[in-house]
Amino acid sequence: MRRPITLSLTLILLVWLLLVTALGYAFQQFFPALALAALVALIWMFWRMQSWPSEPAPVLGKTSTRTAPETSTTRHRTQRLASQLRALRDAGAALPDAVILLDEQGRILWFNPASARLFGLDWPRDRMLKIEDRLADHPIGAWLKQDSKAMLADVPAPSDANLRLSINRIPLGKHQHLLLGRDITAFTRLEQMRRDFIANVSHELRTPLTVIHGYLDLIDPEDAPTLAPLLDDLRTQSQRMTRIVEDLLILSRLETQMDLSEERVVIPALLSTLIREAEALSRGRHTVHLENTFRADLYGSLKDIHSAFSNLVSNAVRYTPSGGSITLRWRGLDNGGAAFEVIDTGYGIPQSHIQRLTERFYRVSSSRSRETGGTGLGLSIVKHALNQHQAQIVIDSEPGRGSTFTAVFGPERVLKPALANETPST
Ligand code: ADP
Repeated sequence: MRRPITLSLTLILLVWLLLVTALGYAFQQFFPALALAALVALIWMFWRMQSWPSEPAPVLGKTSTRTAPETSTTRHRTQRLASQLRALRDAGAALPDAVILLDEQGRILWFNPASARLFGLDWPRDRMLKIEDRLADHPIGAWLKQDSKAMLADVPAPSDANLRLSINRIPLGKHQHLLLGRDITAFTRLEQMRRDFIANVSHELRTPLTVIHGYLDLIDPEDAPTLAPLLDDLRTQSQRMTRIVEDLLILSRLETQMDLSEERVVIPALLSTLIREAEALSRGRHTVHLENTFRADLYGSLKDIHSAFSNLVSNAVRYTPSGGSITLRWRGLDNGGAAFEVIDTGYGIPQSHIQRLTERFYRVSSSRSRETGGTGLGLSIVKHALNQHQAQIVIDSEPGRGSTFTAVFGPERVLKPALANETPST
């Protein structure tokens, strides 16, 4: 903008000077005309300079007319952001769960009121304190130190041991973390009530069932031939109820058991027992094989491991038609762990059922389960017993071809022969 103005001014001045000096020359007054023209030009220029707004003004003026609405938009945006932040903070404050924002070193940046209630935190006292130091004498502190990715499922709240929490650490952006503490007190109470109820009902049913059983055994069908089929049915049903009650009691024990009785589980001896059980149950209807390719024992509870393996073997026999084969295999894994496999050539299981098989009373075919004396609790017991040993059940099956149930144990549960007399440091 400045260039055209200066150029046109120079041109005007030149024309002015030429015109006046030309007139002066014509009237032989060249120098006075030149001086007059120069003076007028000077005065005019001085007046222009005075009346001109200072150079940046137009720019500023333009900027100001343009920035005026921008400023209000920015202000509007800032206000909107601030109100959104307030809403977020209010939502955080209203949450019943503890939310603690941590920096990359695990220092407390912010927490909501529920954190004060559940973790016993105090603002500003605990601000910028390392959370693992703050909770050093609590299981949560130890868990934070381990830097474990797994959730801490059920711990007493640091502020009150009667409250139960589940703790989760979630990465936030590149460096920060959110520590979430959910109050699961009501849930654990309900769970406990459910467990107690099942355990109590099972206990209460056990005695009357034993009595009924006893009386049924006393009745000789030959004394009342007309009642013989009815007595048979009564016996079958009362036996079935007894098995269900026994399985429920095993499940209750597995669920409530805090300390596992840990010992060396001698695998060759256990495998021999399982083979005998399979053959007794099969009564010659199947061929039973044993493959023991791993010279190692397990470390855990013999009772629970036997219970789990025995259920798998019993299922293989019950769900394999006559003429089929059943293989029990004990093998080592690449990671130093071990696997117990039960492979059958039985009915198999459609893929859609596999996920739910370990749920209580879940059956692919209820009639087949009942016919074979199933309780619907076998795989549930297997899962719980293996969980106690940090082991897992893996199911691979194809309808019409058979199934493979694998109990997978980690290296910490394996006792190699050289270490057979030692206790692993788990
Ligand atoms: P159940 O007492 O009914 O056998 P389980 O919990 O042991 O209960 O098993 C649950 C269901 O899983 C069974 O009802 C059956 O349908 C299926 N199942 C378990 N093992 C096998 C197997 N080896 N082959 C085919 N189906 C099986």
